[in-house]
Amino acid sequence: MKDTLHKFMLESAPVRGELVEMSVTWQQVLARRDYPVAVRTLLGEMLSAAALLSANLKFNGMIVMQIHGDGPVKLLVVECDAELRLRATARIVEDAVIADDATLRQLVNANGEGRFAMTLDPKDRLPGQQAYQGIVPLDGDQVATVIENYMLRSEQLDTKLWLAADDHVARGVLLQKLPAQGEKNPAAETAETWNRLSMLGNTLRREELLSTDIETLRHRLFWEETLRVFAPQYPAFHCSCSREKVSNMLKMLGQPEIEEALASQEKLDINCDFCGRHYTFDAVDCAQLFIVETSDHAIAQSATRH
Ligand SMILES: [Zn+2]
Repeated sequence: MKDTLHKFMLESAPVRGELVEMSVTWQQVLARRDYPVAVRTLLGEMLSAAALLSANLKFNGMIVMQIHGDGPVKLLVVECDAELRLRATARIVEDAVIADDATLRQLVNANGEGRFAMTLDPKDRLPGQQAYQGIVPLDGDQVATVIENYMLRSEQLDTKLWLAADDHVARGVLLQKLPAQGEKNPAAETAETWNRLSMLGNTLRREELLSTDIETLRHRLFWEETLRVFAPQYPAFHCSCSREKVSNMLKMLGQPEIEEALASQEKLDINCDFCGRHYTFDAVDCAQLFIVETSDHAIAQSATRH
């Protein structure tokens, strides 16, 4: 099974949809960390949602979806770029005991302080251009509901999501009602189609979503409709971390802070939360971070002398 995302449009109404299934990508996220079952489910659902929204918003850049929790889970984050390359991670309170059937509320909204954030970071930012970020309270008991509410509020788009994830696969379905297109699609007819399809989607059980490939799901849900189906897209795992990025992060911390850290340890060990890659900076590496410009200058000078 290849990780695949399908997009389609209804011929009879201004409604578009997507289905996604990720096994390889999801396995690569899971291979790095051992998450409690309930956290794994939540992160897998977010992974599906990020792929669906990234393809849906047709946004040329990175979508960062985060849940900031006030319970045993402090942070869930999924990133997806315009080529559907994804990475994801979760930060859990040390020694937290998490029940397999813990709810969204118990995990990240225990005191009603949990937040859902979506960041749209354009690929080629113009000077001074900022990433756009929307933050909302965790309005719903499921990831799907939280995102549906977010889409309605911030994008004014009626969106329905059905998401599921287990050890093997993360799968999801998205439907979206587009703004009315004049006389061609009378509002009442569109509303009728939308309601019918939403109800049909609501009959999807988690087990069915987990055990049925998206081709079959599409047929099962939309066999009565005439669909225009687009060429499939292929999500994949990709981590954008690099030694250069870690170097820049250390430079931003500043020399005094780095020297202080090195006073108590021989070298700095930095692990990427997303892919587990390990970066080591010893005293010499750290010193070099802050003398790069001088040495470049020296090299340039010695080169001119020869
Ligand atoms: Zn990484």
